[in-house]
Amino acid sequence: MFRTLGGMRTRPTLSWSPTEDLPPGTTDLGPVADALRSGGVLVLSGAGISTESGIPDYRGEGGSLSRHTPMTYQDFTASARARRRYWARSHLGWRTFGRARPNAGHRAVAAFERRGLLSGVITQNVDGLHQAAGSEGVVELHGSLDRVVCLSCGAFSPRRELARRLEQANEGFAPVAAGINPDGDADLTDEQVGDFRVVPCAVCGGILKPDVVFFGETVPPQRVEHCRSLVRRAASVLVLGSSLTVMSGLRFVRQAAETGTPVLIVNRDATRGDRHAVTRVALPLGAALTTVAGRLGVPVDDGVASGAG
Ligand SMILES: [Zn+2]
Repeated sequence: MFRTLGGMRTRPTLSWSPTEDLPPGTTDLGPVADALRSGGVLVLSGAGISTESGIPDYRGEGGSLSRHTPMTYQDFTASARARRRYWARSHLGWRTFGRARPNAGHRAVAAFERRGLLSGVITQNVDGLHQAAGSEGVVELHGSLDRVVCLSCGAFSPRRELARRLEQANEGFAPVAAGINPDGDADLTDEQVGDFRVVPCAVCGGILKPDVVFFGETVPPQRVEHCRSLVRRAASVLVLGSSLTVMSGLRFVRQAAETGTPVLIVNRDATRGDRHAVTRVALPLGAALTTVAGRLGVPVDDGVASGAG
């Protein structure tokens, strides 16, 4: 199965600032609790839900976009040098991601799901932390860092296998990164990347790419359609920790709004979806969702058990 190249042409939108006066965020969790109490809630999560796990957000205060330009599909496929840089940084970032643990926000989402209050979870994150917290059937809109795909033969393979091969090919590679980004990319200088050796597909010798949607790449159409059907079936849509800057997530919020399905947002800063939402709660996610769970009498794991695996 070869991923279609036809749709990959847009330059990414990397920033968004409100062009209109948006209502300020509230601290009232009542509407979020009410929506969850009535069930059928579709969660749409973004990088903001993983910041409390030590993975910084792109945007907002200290956002990594200020020092990091995400890899684009165009750069990755066009240049061996770009791929070496990508894999060196991503290989290092992978170790950090491997240590990240789900936080109270992920655990609350899993608890709501267990209680039958959710109709689904769509995440824009590639960190696997919802699943690590126990959520099932999570739709990974932008793919997962856990898998690698060959751009020539289409074979999928586990990332840990590639990590092993990269370790072997780059013995002693252990630079100290200045930071880590939500796409698993560690901040390394070109000097630190050095002559890092990339390894090819073990099946055909082709170019390996993480099975994630890069900036400038489109989400596979079947995945989009699946998400659209989840939005159609949802009683409400709850956005958690996303500025909705990229269209890949924003379109579902628009779809919900167009069909009269209430959209509720919990995000620290204003979002591109605010004018479609009935409320935006500006509270830290872990604490906010734990509070809501408490009000609904939904027990949330303390994280000790779920983090042990
Ligand atoms: Zn291959």
